[in-house]
Amino acid sequence: MADAGKNDIRVKPDRLHAFTAAICRADGSTTEEAKLVADHLVLANLYGHDSHGVGMMPHYIGNTTTGRCVRNHHALIARDNGAVIVVDGGRGYGQVIAKEAMEFGIDRAREHGVCVVGLVNSHHIGRIGHWAEQCARAGMVSTHWVNVHGHKSLVAPFGAAEARITTNPYCTAVPRKGREPVVLDFATSQVAMGKVRVANNKGEPMEPGLLIDAQGRPTVDPGTMYNAPYGAILPFGLHKGGGLALICDLLAGALTGGGTHSQRTIKPDGTDIINNMLSIIVDPAAMGGLDAFEDEVENFVTWIKSSKPQPGVPEVLMPGEPERARRIDRERNGVPIDPTTWAQLVETARKVRLNDTEIRDIAGV
Ligand code: NAD
Repeated sequence: MADAGKNDIRVKPDRLHAFTAAICRADGSTTEEAKLVADHLVLANLYGHDSHGVGMMPHYIGNTTTGRCVRNHHALIARDNGAVIVVDGGRGYGQVIAKEAMEFGIDRAREHGVCVVGLVNSHHIGRIGHWAEQCARAGMVSTHWVNVHGHKSLVAPFGAAEARITTNPYCTAVPRKGREPVVLDFATSQVAMGKVRVANNKGEPMEPGLLIDAQGRPTVDPGTMYNAPYGAILPFGLHKGGGLALICDLLAGALTGGGTHSQRTIKPDGTDIINNMLSIIVDPAAMGGLDAFEDEVENFVTWIKSSKPQPGVPEVLMPGEPERARRIDRERNGVPIDPTTWAQLVETARKVRLNDTEIRDIAGV
């Protein structure tokens, strides 16, 4: 998760939301679509995942302009086998498409106890935890495997000296009775590409062990991902994480029919960003029964959280807790945005013909 840099500006979350939604609306999105996009991106910032926050807007607007992201489009069930559905996103805004795909899946899981959703051909669906949290609010356990194609490769397979896949995120959320869910949500690369973008924007080196250069040698320079000859991000967790990254492509790309990231789907200009996602949504009531499930989850969480922390670790946390702690801080103190990202956002706002007075009035900066 990103921390605030010394030159960052702090923007109030409600202003950031209004600014993001205003850009979307000025670009031609409906009020509802603009709200969903802003809800999603600002929440990612509040949770500390700036890589998937409002900094994505220039990319999104660039893609609506070229037709790579289709405004005001809705998800469609393309194949219907009851508890197994394929949802076609038609390149619509992922913030709309994934929400609708999860709504279909949740309804089916209520009916059948489980629904396997193959979401294909959606524009970027952002922070995957957002979709798992939607399922958790409906009382569902869900697990999500995601691949990305349309742009160049970013991540080296385990042992490879060149990129062949992308940052393929994996997410599982487990709802808790009367409490926030457990949400494990991460890229299977050492870091999400957006974090390399943020470091590159800030002109800061990355930690060792995350990147390799074009010759396959370790580097800390985020510029290796932006300047040819390109390097690659390493997968997390050696052969185990590297294996999980490949499974994401096989499940989200091959099993759903959406296509893996390969020479068939790569577009060298690097601006397209299509997500496919295999989601398995399970109603706990259909398994061991709701009461037993909720009781066992609380038992387990209590057991884990009561473990003795390592020296220097204040508290053992469940996945999802760091994001919620970050949110409290950012709700109070504002969302930190680095100057390069802010300049890109203002430029994007001007591009959709918001003038500087409107920008200042809406963003409050
Ligand atoms: P990350 O490395 O910050 O890991 C986040 C996960 O680890 C969270 O579940 C968090 O709660 C948990 N965690 C972190 N610290 C913890 C601690 N001390 N104790 C317990 N749990 C802890 O995440 P990332 O890999 O940088 O991914 C960031 C976001 O990028 C994710 O939301 C992911 O979905 C998104 N992403 C999306 C795409 C896409 O194509 N749409 C691609 C890649 C990543």
